[in-house]
Amino acid sequence: MGELLIVGSVAFDAIETPFGKTGKILGGAAPFIGLAASQFKAKSAIVSVVGDDFPQAYLDLLTDRNIDISGIEVVKGGKTFFWQGKYHNDLNSRDTLVTELNTLGDFTPVVPNDFKNADVVMLGNLHPNTQMSVINQMEERPKLIVLDTMNFWMDNTWDELMEVIKRIDVITINDEEARQLTEEYSLVKAAAKIQEMGPRYVVIKKGEHGALLFHKENIFFAPALPLEEVFDPTGAGDTFAGGFSGYLAETGNISFENMKNAIIHGSNLASFCVERFGTERMLELQKHEVEARLMQFRDLTQFNIELT
Ligand code: AMP
Repeated sequence: MGELLIVGSVAFDAIETPFGKTGKILGGAAPFIGLAASQFKAKSAIVSVVGDDFPQAYLDLLTDRNIDISGIEVVKGGKTFFWQGKYHNDLNSRDTLVTELNTLGDFTPVVPNDFKNADVVMLGNLHPNTQMSVINQMEERPKLIVLDTMNFWMDNTWDELMEVIKRIDVITINDEEARQLTEEYSLVKAAAKIQEMGPRYVVIKKGEHGALLFHKENIFFAPALPLEEVFDPTGAGDTFAGGFSGYLAETGNISFENMKNAIIHGSNLASFCVERFGTERMLELQKHEVEARLMQFRDLTQFNIELT
């Protein structure tokens, strides 16, 4: 059984979609990553920070799923990171209405001793210096370091981002961000340029249009399952990353062939995440549902063309 170390925000989210609106609910990249990874047999831990306004019940939801939370610092008198977003009618785009960094603003991550030799490190979307600090605390070079980032860090912390990108194996970003990172419109050219920056594997997410995996001259495409109902896309990218890294931590096999399976697992789990608000769907997800949908994924892309 491998180990997975996750660093990312733990948050209160308030979400508005065309279907409804929530108050402050459990959010942040790390819970989405952790809940997706908990579908696999890897031992996982979260490194993050919250204030003492964060309900113990939310932390219990994570420990109930065997996620080690000893690396989540609780700051006395501090306030938890808060994010509020509103989705447009097409659900593909959203406006961020509020970002209150609070305790995340001056967060210094501390990797628990038990996870300093983790096989896989999943660096959720955070300041690149925070991501770098986690890499520097590892006792041995992990088998695989996966990094998620966003346009905000490209706009504001370009040099720091370039330094951390040099030290990772896999980057997961969306198509727009890949274009911003490289100034290339073609995603094939963009992926080649990103590989020159450091990561050997590039995952480009295209929302409801699936995800692409690039490695040298190899390309793999995984569709997103066409869903009858998309309720709230928040956390889909993090859930994808959690499924991807959790599966690789469980199997310990980081070949291109196995990464194809990891992409499918990530896409499969993300398809559940969007069915309800926040983490709701992931908290009640059953193994048999996950397996049944994996079969749907297989059927979606299987065909028998005979070449004569
Ligand atoms: P995603 O929908 O995959 O982009 O992830 C949404 C999650 O990211 C939400 O639960 C937010 O709490 C969290 N989030 C939003 N903005 C930030 C930020 N600037 N830093 C860290 N986490 C964030």
